[in-house]
Amino acid sequence: MEYKIRDIISFLDQLAPPAYQESYDNAQLIAGDPNQPVKGILCSLDCTEEVIDEAIQLGVNLVVAHHPIVFKGLKSLTGKNYVERTVIKAIKNDVAIFAIHTNLDHVSNGVNKRIADRLSLLNPKILQPKKGNLSKLTFFVPEDSKNQVLGAVYQAGAGQIGEYKDCSFQVNGMGTFTPSDAANPYSGKAGVPSYEPEVRAEVILPKYLSQKVVSAMKKSHPYEEVAFYLQDLENENQEVGAGMIGELESPMDELDFLDYLKERMNLQVVRHTALRWKPIKKVAVCGGAGIFLLGDAKRHGADAFVTADVKYHEFFDAEGQLMLCDIGHYESEIFTKELLSELLSQNFPNIALYLTKVVTNPTSYR
Ligand SMILES: [Zn+2]
Repeated sequence: MEYKIRDIISFLDQLAPPAYQESYDNAQLIAGDPNQPVKGILCSLDCTEEVIDEAIQLGVNLVVAHHPIVFKGLKSLTGKNYVERTVIKAIKNDVAIFAIHTNLDHVSNGVNKRIADRLSLLNPKILQPKKGNLSKLTFFVPEDSKNQVLGAVYQAGAGQIGEYKDCSFQVNGMGTFTPSDAANPYSGKAGVPSYEPEVRAEVILPKYLSQKVVSAMKKSHPYEEVAFYLQDLENENQEVGAGMIGELESPMDELDFLDYLKERMNLQVVRHTALRWKPIKKVAVCGGAGIFLLGDAKRHGADAFVTADVKYHEFFDAEGQLMLCDIGHYESEIFTKELLSELLSQNFPNIALYLTKVVTNPTSYR
């Protein structure tokens, strides 16, 4: 089967919905024609000119990168900096660039889960779940059509709470209506008040799927006019958010933990706060610049917080309450390219998939 670039995108969009990216982000198809057939995919952390060269050499026409090469927007394309040169080279050579960034950071099987897995953390949970991305749909349906409509809304993505699917709440009651002369009622007669036993069903759903779920409900519902209401919820979504926290199988002393961190994350160096001479058991992680989660890591009782891009004064903020470890931005996220390649290979086993061999890390150590 021949796949188009848009097929890869829609698969990745399901894994890491674009709606879950930060407002400043640019996770999307950045260059290229989504209708082109896919010749092969190159997975990388960054997309640079060298990565585009590698794609050309490999004969692939799609780069899936974590960091968007175009972040702030472009007002001209003249090749005056590496961003413009990368985009120009990609377009000239028919290589598409897709970025899957903070949306992949925020899903429970994304960048931070990969770090948690590298560190073999048990019971990994989202460190800072996001609010305001869940909705509730309440609808009214005759008893004999209940399962059909519920099945359709589940299929469209409603009714999932953690490890439980097909979640709903149902009560039986009485619906009333009087059809007009122009109506085409499923039951009842024009001008005659009707009393119909109905079920009131409530389901939870990700807000970004509202339209899809409402349309599935309407399509599967027997009534000409469906009574329903859709409400935004303030609830936290435990499946979506920043960072992760989990536990080591058994406590380690701090020096052993630092060695372990270096070995598991393939590090040359860790910048960290002073040793507290306390064992490390609970570990919070956030790939890339995660210092904004320091308060959450403390609140959840983390013994160590592993992240990157920590500034001098931010190390003070640890206040001796945990060991803050800066492992480097590239180092914290480099395994994302493997994550992408694994996810893609499961769904597209016949597409040629490559991991970039280009070391895009702009920093070095001596
Ligand atoms: Zn990053």
